[in-house]
Amino acid sequence: MTSANMAPLLIDGRRPVVFSDYDGTITERDVIMMIMEAFAPPEWKTIVHDILDARTLSIKDGVSQLFALLKSEQREEITAYVKANVQLRKGFENFLAFCADRQIPFNLVSGGADFFIDPIVEPFKTQIGLYYNVARFDAPEVRLDFPHYQADCAPCNQCACCKIGVMDQYPADEYFRIAIGDSLTDLGMARKADWVFARARLLDYTREAGIAVTPFESFDDIASALSKRLEVSVPC
Ligand code: MG
Repeated sequence: MTSANMAPLLIDGRRPVVFSDYDGTITERDVIMMIMEAFAPPEWKTIVHDILDARTLSIKDGVSQLFALLKSEQREEITAYVKANVQLRKGFENFLAFCADRQIPFNLVSGGADFFIDPIVEPFKTQIGLYYNVARFDAPEVRLDFPHYQADCAPCNQCACCKIGVMDQYPADEYFRIAIGDSLTDLGMARKADWVFARARLLDYTREAGIAVTPFESFDDIASALSKRLEVSVPC
């Protein structure tokens, strides 16, 4: 049986849809951190501390400051570094196939930027929705544009890429919304999702916020958990 003639699978009577973070979620390591370690002057560490630990700096202002530490002329070198060093999390490619076979939309929602996401997800681009910030290299320092920024997002209005705004394109009465993430930029969607898969610091942020999550380490873990809740079984 192919996906074309399968009835949509449901969870709690709704169609599942996935929203996944990129840095440290689809990828093994946080690519922003990898780029900063390799290319930025040491002040990047203070900015990251202010975003993630002190939480005195908004994600939007923080990522702007981080990328302004990079020089536009480093673009090709950074892209080459990303292609050579970024590793996908175990099970990612199989999970995309799992979602495609079951007509489950997969959306990548990231507070990162196109120039270090596109080279990694290029082979899968037709299978995923892409929501991220866009880098510009027309000034001496790297600048970011925020096509998915939402100033009026009630929970915070501080994220550069509003992951909640992307989720809201899939109404909760129709869709069972699954969030996958690892850090602070995922907390907003963790608050709204029907099912949250969390790892790393998102486990701490969600615990503090009293949000129930399912811990995961690989996308195989997520496929296995979803399989158990999908309401129509699919012959392999
Ligand atoms: Mg992340």
